[in-house]
Amino acid sequence: METLAVHADGGVTADKTVAPAIHYSAVFKADDSAEFVEMSSVPQHPRNYTRYGNPVHERVKKIMAELEGTETALVTASGMGAIATTILSLVKAGDHVIGQTRHYMSTAKMLDDMLQRFGIEVTLVDQTDTAAFECAIRPNTKLIVLETPVNPLLMLTDIAAVTRLAKSRGILTMADNTFSSPINQRPHDLGVDIVVHSATKYLGGHHDMTGGVICTSRALAEDIWHTHITLGSVLSPMDAWLLLRGLRTLPMRIERINANAMALASFLEQQPQIERVFYPGLTSHPQHELAKRQMNGYGGVIAFGVRGGYAEAEHFVSSLQIPHNAGNLGGVDSLVIHTAAMWAGTMNPAQMKAADIPLNFVRYSVGIEHIDDLKADVLQALASM
Ligand SMILES: *Cc1c(COP(=O)(O)O)cnc(C)c1O
Repeated sequence: METLAVHADGGVTADKTVAPAIHYSAVFKADDSAEFVEMSSVPQHPRNYTRYGNPVHERVKKIMAELEGTETALVTASGMGAIATTILSLVKAGDHVIGQTRHYMSTAKMLDDMLQRFGIEVTLVDQTDTAAFECAIRPNTKLIVLETPVNPLLMLTDIAAVTRLAKSRGILTMADNTFSSPINQRPHDLGVDIVVHSATKYLGGHHDMTGGVICTSRALAEDIWHTHITLGSVLSPMDAWLLLRGLRTLPMRIERINANAMALASFLEQQPQIERVFYPGLTSHPQHELAKRQMNGYGGVIAFGVRGGYAEAEHFVSSLQIPHNAGNLGGVDSLVIHTAAMWAGTMNPAQMKAADIPLNFVRYSVGIEHIDDLKADVLQALASM
């Protein structure tokens, strides 16, 4: 993985530079009409028109396909660009889609609301219950959407069990692998057809670009690409370049983040002022055995309750000195949010209760800082309460 992240894109473009060139051009020119015809008729041509392809995209696509173990990949302007483009290219009116009751907020919105407006039926099931996926299958089920681990309690889906089921019924599966990155989890190895990412998180890793990736077979990528150029979720060459730079250090960053998060989660579990810690790497996580089976590492996101209620969690979060109070995750900087405060913008208290979002909950996305500093910071915040 470490070597692929640095060298898999070697030779993909003709640049003779060590650092990749940024091809900041919306359009490319041909030497003659014959070349122009070739450029404009070959799908995903990297030198035609940047909405169709770009040399920097080619590099990112090559690395991501290698890291996820798929034949190829596509890049989009955001994680939602990847998710929306994939779903809209695979389903049509009259089809049925199965999703989870917990998803990234905008994915949930797409399943709950948008697809229904286009005449696509959706059933949402408890992801921790594999039998619930089986019960939800109908003759017109086309796609199962997976996401694991997922907010707010880091619950998991048994990827191999669900894909076995899907394959036996000829149903496609798509998995959002944002929380793990291919370093910690490779859903395609477990049978998933399409792996999608918000590159805005671990893959970019520096809180400075927005992007998405779709990793899949050549045949599916070609179908999805035709929808992609129509929907126009195009990754800018600069953001593709920042993503490429981020990918070089992905295995190293994830290694540090896994170690930091494991240590911080265990440390939090020992604090009497902390109520319950959810982290797939802890033996106390209700699905720890599944985590061990399908993950190589447990990522950087920890959810926990601060003893008390909304006010105590609020005080704890604002007393931390190192993590920024910000809603992204997976980058070099630690970030923290008071979960209920984040959701309060879009949900009323009854909806939050229905969604199992405890008012005293905190989400901590661990960065690459020194673990001793992160622990000391938690202690000083708890001492101030
Ligand atoms: C952030 C995120 C997305 C959406 O990605 P954007 O790049 O913000 O569009 C999708 N899924 C998960 C799990 C995410 O964390």
